Amino acid sequence: MMIIMKTNATPQQVEHVIEHVKAAGLNVHLSQGVEATIIGAIGEAHSIPTELFEGLDGVEMVKRITQPFKLASRQFHPENSIFPLDGFTVGGDEIAIIAGPCSVESRSQIMETAQAVKEAGASALRGGVFKPRTSPYSFQGLGEEGLEYLAEARAQTGLPIVVEIMSQVQVDLMSKYVDVFQIGARNMQNFNLLRVIGETQIPVLLKRGLSATIEELLMSAEYILAGGNKQVMLCERGIRTFETATRNTTDINAIPVLKNLTHLPVILDPSHSTGHVDYVAAVARAAIAAGADGLIVEVHPNPAHAVSDGKQSLKPEKFAEMVKQVGQIAQIMGRRLATIQGEYQPLK
Ligand code: PEP
Ligand code: MN
Repeated sequence: MMIIMKTNATPQQVEHVIEHVKAAGLNVHLSQGVEATIIGAIGEAHSIPTELFEGLDGVEMVKRITQPFKLASRQFHPENSIFPLDGFTVGGDEIAIIAGPCSVESRSQIMETAQAVKEAGASALRGGVFKPRTSPYSFQGLGEEGLEYLAEARAQTGLPIVVEIMSQVQVDLMSKYVDVFQIGARNMQNFNLLRVIGETQIPVLLKRGLSATIEELLMSAEYILAGGNKQVMLCERGIRTFETATRNTTDINAIPVLKNLTHLPVILDPSHSTGHVDYVAAVARAAIAAGADGLIVEVHPNPAHAVSDGKQSLKPEKFAEMVKQVGQIAQIMGRRLATIQGEYQPLK
């Protein structure tokens, strides 16, 4: 449930309510917005009467969160969550553009791609080093060597790096390098991984599972938020339908639905959604028009020779064109593309 404090409630009154919440066996999640201080009392709250908190000093009202996801819900946190990503913010007026190859293949490939996407206006660099491949015989990624190349590309361009984590055993290694953990579609319900990532303070890009509902996506986000990591971006990456003309079906509806249900930023992946280079820009434009907070796009200097997802990877020139179009649509929507400002802090 949510305990909404009066606007003039004192810090002591807030503290006093928090003590009562803990005494009732519930976890406390404090949300201090511009408009109001809300104390989330999260746990087995259904059997606890709201009256327990209603009479306490400084309390305006107590409401139950009716959604099954609590911390992720807009009921609990009415304002958009806006959090910083090295020099820009996600979830506010700025549109984040994360771009790069599906897989890091070599030092020269990632350096060249990083430079090209930076020049085209990207705000972050993506690149997989542990790949979730359908076949065990396909390229599985460069591992730590790939992380080192990504760190070098970041030092050179200033772009923060977004890298998929496949298992909790990779957390220590990857925490030394990455700016954003990507949780892939196939791991959206890997609850052990979600819990471990929830204990870090590293931002997360959580992708929707191939056949997961919007509610299931939000319940997975809830695992991360419940651990204390509030920096979660949700990513629509297409879902499986009967349609075979495209690799997946972009659920454009998911963007306004998510914006309605949750305060978390929403990113769209037009590459995996469509699976084809010819459709990527159109769906990227649609996503920004629909209210998405950013895009994650696969870009490769030589898609014909990419080790993974070449068919859906844009050449840098096409990507630059797409960024321009997206920038124009962002303007119509009263927003702007994120740009990296200031010095980037190199290797941790
Ligand atoms: C990827 O981003 O390369 C990827 C594997 O994405 P997804 O988890 O959405 O399939
Ligand atoms: Mn890919």
